Amino acid sequence: MLRAGIVGLPNVGKSTLFNALVANAKAQAANFPFCTIEPNVGVVAVPDERLSVLAKISQSEQIVPTRIEFVDIAGLVKGASQGEGLGNQFLANIREVDAIVQVVRCFEDDDIIHVSGSVDPARDIETINLELALSDLAQAERRLDRARKQARGNKDGKVEVDALEKLIAILNEGQPARLASLNDDEQESVKGLGLLTAKPIIYGANVSEDDLAEGNEWVEQVKQIAAQENAQVVTISAQVESELIELPEEDRDDFLSSLGVSEGGLQSLIRATYTLLGLRTYLTTGPKETRAWTITAGMTAPQAAGVIHSDFERGFIRSETVAYEDLVTHGSMSAAKEKGLVRSEGKDYIVQEGDIMLFRFNV
Ligand code: GDP
Repeated sequence: MLRAGIVGLPNVGKSTLFNALVANAKAQAANFPFCTIEPNVGVVAVPDERLSVLAKISQSEQIVPTRIEFVDIAGLVKGASQGEGLGNQFLANIREVDAIVQVVRCFEDDDIIHVSGSVDPARDIETINLELALSDLAQAERRLDRARKQARGNKDGKVEVDALEKLIAILNEGQPARLASLNDDEQESVKGLGLLTAKPIIYGANVSEDDLAEGNEWVEQVKQIAAQENAQVVTISAQVESELIELPEEDRDDFLSSLGVSEGGLQSLIRATYTLLGLRTYLTTGPKETRAWTITAGMTAPQAAGVIHSDFERGFIRSETVAYEDLVTHGSMSAAKEKGLVRSEGKDYIVQEGDIMLFRFNV
């Protein structure tokens, strides 16, 4: 399962956000199997409107959304790359995630101390990204020493040296490794380093409930920074999310519309994270369940089948495949079949977003 790590300075709303994500997932637990792995790791359903449409067509007993993991990574403070706070242990935690959600404080509240004394998203983002970049720089420099020795008379080693030199130049300018222009071979040669600033990032601009609809000047600052870095921004109010969970379901829409919004930001954050990771969804549907499965772009039909069970991949024969839109337009599998829209696909077929798959396989 893919993992996204929530980072940010202390008191910006990370835990509030994480708890809202987990509580939201638990509230849906009646509808799908749920598990909490560790206190700071939560498994969250990816909202997908197509599931209920399909479940109706198939009269499915249950709906099973696909999921991603969120990890609350506390402890990043100024100086972490030099071992301050939880320091290196914290940075090691981030190395294991696939994407980063950086929560940025964009709300004013005199009762809640800001570690640097005032609300200033640009400074906060710089503080965090500097720690990440310094840690990457140390990592890349250590590696470069070794790579140079190994590169003597070795072409592959030369590729790595070139890649590391480019990365170090970018990091020295205080830029994220993500912005280095590496070719495919160079990219591959440094993948194992797990550079923090090479990971895709979403900024979660945490606003007060009054600013959820319109944003504020701090959110604009975050958006400007994100645009320069090819990163995304989701405006969210952790506070609103934590209040929403306390409300009975029928009152939530009223509460949100009183704030001038149709959703609180949690759903968009989950969706944005999913998209950021380059993930695709295919669907299976029948009387028992309608279910979403996660694959990465470019996976073949047998590989996609392997996500359900490795036996499906090994014994794969073919799949009956119909696009979600085609099935919905014609209202039933048999109607879609009559129109010739249900295709028989073999083992080289590249599964597309929204494909509905029925696998035929040998056991
Ligand atoms: P963390 O240290 O980043 O995990 O921050 P917490 O989630 O523990 O939040 C720190 C404090 O800020 C808590 O008292 C939260 O209730 C409060 N807080 C979080 N988000 C908001 C918000 O959007 N508005 C306001 N006013 N307070 C918030």
